Amino acid sequence: LYNQVQDLKGNIRVYCRVRPFLPGQSSSMSTVGHIDDGNIMIITPSKYGKGHKSFSFNKVFGPFATQEEVFSDTQPLIRSVLDGYNVCIFAYGQTGAGKTYTMSGPNELTEESFGVNYRALNDLFHISKQRKDTFLPLLVNTLDIHNSSQKGLAVPNANLVPVTSTTEVVELMNIGQKNRAVSATAMNDRSSRSHSCLTIHVQGRELASGAVLRGCMHLVDLAGSERVNKSEAKGDRLKEAQHINKSLSALGDVISALAQKSSHIPYRNSKLTQLLQDSLGGQAKTLMFVHISPEADAISETLSTLKFAERVASV
Ligand code: ADP
Ligand code: MG
Repeated sequence: LYNQVQDLKGNIRVYCRVRPFLPGQSSSMSTVGHIDDGNIMIITPSKYGKGHKSFSFNKVFGPFATQEEVFSDTQPLIRSVLDGYNVCIFAYGQTGAGKTYTMSGPNELTEESFGVNYRALNDLFHISKQRKDTFLPLLVNTLDIHNSSQKGLAVPNANLVPVTSTTEVVELMNIGQKNRAVSATAMNDRSSRSHSCLTIHVQGRELASGAVLRGCMHLVDLAGSERVNKSEAKGDRLKEAQHINKSLSALGDVISALAQKSSHIPYRNSKLTQLLQDSLGGQAKTLMFVHISPEADAISETLSTLKFAERVASV
């Protein structure tokens, strides 16, 4: 039933989430005007034209949406993984707009602030135990996809680890985060410059039919989408930024080709889309959270993020 409901809505969804002002920021200069269920109006400075621009998505979450609310619209996708579907969930947006908050949560995690990753895993454990079908332990893999000079494709499933509880996964992910924290100081915030991908494989057997159920879910905290100013970045840093922008637009091209049911889907244009090929398109389900910051000085990135998102949704 869940899949029937989802199929009616199509296999690609785009949700927009607005980050609240952070403590200490003045909220008098918000660029976000009216928000309703699926629409958002952005107030633009005069050099961008008529003073406001509106965008439509499958859903818009305002600055006061809780982690629980954001997840509740994602939940049906989690169920379909256990029915043998492949699912990709992406977090897109400029650095600081809230991607990691949505996917993982804030640095000081409480149960209330758990992000999509933890909630999705909790659901997978919970629902698989409730069902009469038999499931093998989940297999989890964490992978950072860098776009710099690295040649060839990283082996995606080299580090598959069986897990039986969310606690184990939290530990696994904390290790990943610690590694990232170390490199952040050493390499100038590596995390905003790589795509970090958590993949969960589900395998089971349906009791009634004996059919094998094999599903997979990729949860991807994408690299920051900000354009890098050529006058600010040089050499390797500039090259890397150009690679990131290229891979993000390649991802946009793939999703928009899928949304338009185009006959050619350009998977091979980036490492990221190559890696996720089996989980993008066909019967697979895709959800992209696009994140924006409310600050006036983010307006140009906000508009380009929303334009990207609208192209991806192409509804
Ligand atoms: P990104 O991963 O896109 O670079 P982060 O998720 O790290 O951005 O968010 C930047 C800062 O804003 C962090 O301090 C984070 O805790 C905070 N933040 C982001 N989204 C929210 C939100 N919805 N509610 C409260 N704080 C948020
Ligand atoms: Mg982040």
